[in-house]
Amino acid sequence: MLQFGKFERPATVEEALALLQKNKANRILGGGVWLRLQDRRIPCVIDLSACGLDRIELDDDRGAWRIGAMVTLHQLECHEDFNASTCGVFEAAVCDIVGVQMRNLATVGGSLYGRFGFSDILTALLPLGCEVELAGAGTVPLAEFATAKAYERDILTHLVVPAHADLTAAFICVRRQSTDFSVLNVAAARVGGAWSVAVGARPARAVLVGSDALGLPATFGAGATPARVAEDGSVVPAILSDEDAAALEGALDAFAALTFGDNMRASKRYRRHLARELGRRAILEASGLAAPIAPAEPAFRAAAGEDHASAAAEARDGLGGSTLGFSANAALDAAKEADAC
Ligand SMILES: Cc1cc2nc3c(=O)[nH]c(=O)nc-3n(C[C@H](O)[C@H](O)[C@H](O)COP(=O)(O)OP(=O)(O)OC[C@H]3O[C@@H](n4cnc5c(N)ncnc54)[C@H](O)[C@@H]3O)c2cc1C
Repeated sequence: MLQFGKFERPATVEEALALLQKNKANRILGGGVWLRLQDRRIPCVIDLSACGLDRIELDDDRGAWRIGAMVTLHQLECHEDFNASTCGVFEAAVCDIVGVQMRNLATVGGSLYGRFGFSDILTALLPLGCEVELAGAGTVPLAEFATAKAYERDILTHLVVPAHADLTAAFICVRRQSTDFSVLNVAAARVGGAWSVAVGARPARAVLVGSDALGLPATFGAGATPARVAEDGSVVPAILSDEDAAALEGALDAFAALTFGDNMRASKRYRRHLARELGRRAILEASGLAAPIAPAEPAFRAAAGEDHASAAAEARDGLGGSTLGFSANAALDAAKEADAC
């Protein structure tokens, strides 16, 4: 059982930092959803909910969204302007995390600070060029924070997400069933012609594959024919130029070369297969070339008073839901075949 020696709710981040640094076993309390699963005694837990870290603001001077650490996942997933300016990747990443009640507790700060190996949130945000503001260490690129062992005595106060007018991005994952942890997740983004792709739930912290390693041209997809769903429900794939098709294969090879691991959800072999497949789909979707898949609407944005189960059913009944089912099953079948070889 989790036990607290003392519970503090300071009014400022400075007070919180002083309390945290008093004892290395002290801990920050975000939503407490992950922390509560632990079995230990924390001498002093520091609740940040009175520190004014619950706002989502567009900073025009910086051209970026500044999101307080105590903003809940559901608050951010329902923020229409934020999602519109980030191609809905956050919404797509969190819509299957347990349920709305849980996402009304779990915070952006706790989710990023944890840098969980299964995280959908870290994967979705990494290719957007985000930064985190830490009381203590200052502003640090999310890509650096994600890989570092340091920052254990700091408080994550804000997430900063650039609001690029020319961003195109997509997030895609495979779960064995809705609300389970992702077997693998991928997010792809293109800004100013430069691509970056994050691959997570490997099952290890998400890694970012940069534009040099990807080798995708800035004009990738220009003049291509997008995928479409035929009248019989089958998906007619996108048609790319020979150059783009070759560049895409090169990028997929870069994903397959990442390190993957086995766990109860999947083998590393299956994950390697998925990395190529989800990578392909994320890049095509970010290029506007994929057949429509798994829209988070109308279910998860609605939230206010809407029943989650019926909203989810509505999404599944739509074209996108069935296409996702097709995609995931096809990937599973292919992996089974590969395992049988
Ligand atoms: C059953 C379950 C299923 C889940 N499924 C998924 C999933 O499918 N995909 C996914 O991406 N995530 C998943 N999560 C994780 C979840 O989305 C949150 O990321 C997680 O609960 C942490 O958020 P929190 O606000 O509850 O953090 P807490 O539990 O409060 O804190 C987590 C850790 O971060 C520290 N901390 C919290 N806030 C700060 C801060 N501002 N600065 C410094 N340190 C801080 C705490 O001290 C603690 O060590 C799941 C969680 C649970 C419990």
